Amino acid sequence: SDMLELVNPSEIRKLFDLAQGVEGLISLGIGEPDFDTPKHIKEYAKEALDKGLTHYGPNAGILELREAIAEKFKRDNGIDVDPKTQVMVTVGANQALLMGFATFLKDGDEVLIPSPMFVSYAPAVLLAGGKPIEVPTYEENEFRLSIEDLKKYVTPKTKALIINSPNNPTGAVLTKKDVEEIADFAVEHDLMILSDEVYEYFVYDGVKNYSIASLNGMFDRVITINGFSKTFAMTGWRLGFVAAREDIIEKMVRFQMYNSTCAVTFAQVAAAKALRDERSWKALEDMKNEYERRRNLVWKRLNEMGLHTVKPKGAFYIFPRIRDTGLKSKEFSELMIKEARVALVPGSAFGKAGEGFIRISYATAYEKLEEAMDRIEKVLKEKRL
Ligand code: PMP
Repeated sequence: SDMLELVNPSEIRKLFDLAQGVEGLISLGIGEPDFDTPKHIKEYAKEALDKGLTHYGPNAGILELREAIAEKFKRDNGIDVDPKTQVMVTVGANQALLMGFATFLKDGDEVLIPSPMFVSYAPAVLLAGGKPIEVPTYEENEFRLSIEDLKKYVTPKTKALIINSPNNPTGAVLTKKDVEEIADFAVEHDLMILSDEVYEYFVYDGVKNYSIASLNGMFDRVITINGFSKTFAMTGWRLGFVAAREDIIEKMVRFQMYNSTCAVTFAQVAAAKALRDERSWKALEDMKNEYERRRNLVWKRLNEMGLHTVKPKGAFYIFPRIRDTGLKSKEFSELMIKEARVALVPGSAFGKAGEGFIRISYATAYEKLEEAMDRIEKVLKEKRL
């Protein structure tokens, strides 16, 4: 089939191949928590296994989990959903992207994607038959998507818009005003919105995540995507979830039925219990505080060594500008792997607007981050960059 000709291997993977075998390498490349899943959540999964919950479950996800997710949406996001018809469990948030787009995109429909962007967005749009359109965001605006930029790229063919706040790779968090303006823009142009909120709880300096689906009249045009990967450090459990209109969920469930069938049953049982257990939220708070401490360190060090860096308000990424060194982001990353033994992801891996920057993930121990900053600084000095 020609389908896979539409998408290329991720740039990040290629870089990891280069990093293979580098002795003493510190990787700041990986986009996942370095924390282990909290112990009590693992215990819940073991109990579920012992109880024999080793079979298929409903395509939409087990009801107990959908109910716990609906409670969370109401409490934390101000989104009121019926767990039986407006919520589903997916095999990670990643799977929900393609399934979500497949429910409404027709051949050639354009989807606006703020760039730099998470690597799965354009492939998901392409595989669903749409056309990804990058809308650049700028460091002058802390990489927040602005309505002025959206206006430049909207056409009669535009069908949808992705928002991702807190953002991978920039760490940008949309303000309430940003979200309200984007909502008005979507109504004006009759656009669907895919809101990827997987980093929602990782926000710093007292800022808050605003779910666009909670705004008056917006629920019907928003597919809200989230998951357990980041929140409770559960990337390998492959659990995502979605809130959307009933007819959209029905179509997504149909997709899932013929694709993955359902998310892993005993993982879902554990996740349902995790959402209702105070220990999980306490663990999240601890992780968040540690990320914030690391962010402060890395931001300070990068600016001190002369790499101009916006202070990100969310997620666990920071996106320093390396353009002033005269190197392309790929060259900079290759140099740092070879000379500093530090793996960083070139900004160009996240779209055109990412050139001139690199992504650093600070989901790595504090001491390792200190060491990595020392090494990068040393190479910059030696090479007079
Ligand atoms: N969206 C964003 C913005 C991400 O960064 C990631 C993971 N790196 C995902 C979605 C996918 O998450 P999941 O593990 O739930 O598939």
